[in-house]
Amino acid sequence: MKCPFCSHEESKVTDSRNAGDLNAVRRRRECLKCARRFTTFETVDLIIQVKKRDGSYEDFDLEKLIKGLSSASRHTRISYDQVRGIASEIAAELMEKQVREISTTMIGEMAMKRLQDVDTIAYIRFACVYRRFKDVDELMDAIHQTVASE
Ligand SMILES: [Zn+2]
Repeated sequence: MKCPFCSHEESKVTDSRNAGDLNAVRRRRECLKCARRFTTFETVDLIIQVKKRDGSYEDFDLEKLIKGLSSASRHTRISYDQVRGIASEIAAELMEKQVREISTTMIGEMAMKRLQDVDTIAYIRFACVYRRFKDVDELMDAIHQTVASE
């Protein structure tokens, strides 16, 4: 959120409330550089563009992320609820940091970091496949092929 006065990128939120419409939040912000205050209206919807390895973009898709994590968590102690929790945490972190664009690689790294805390086996499975492919889409394809040939 750029400061409208000095264009500095970082500001802190001093107040936050719903702006009548449930899909928007009104925030009072204070620029960390010039200390001037300004108000922003931010939509709560996830408006995040995911940059794929081939350079194309697609909208962040929570369900797709959940599907990928579920596949990587097969035969581990991770429950579907935990998978959903991890995916939601990633989405929440992106919203909190006001990320507007992220690469599939970064999302994979975020997922791995969380999987590592939850279940080592799932983490290793995910990391082995993911690090080799470096792209969530390719990873999904590989997992689906593996599943199909099992
Ligand atoms: Zn400023």
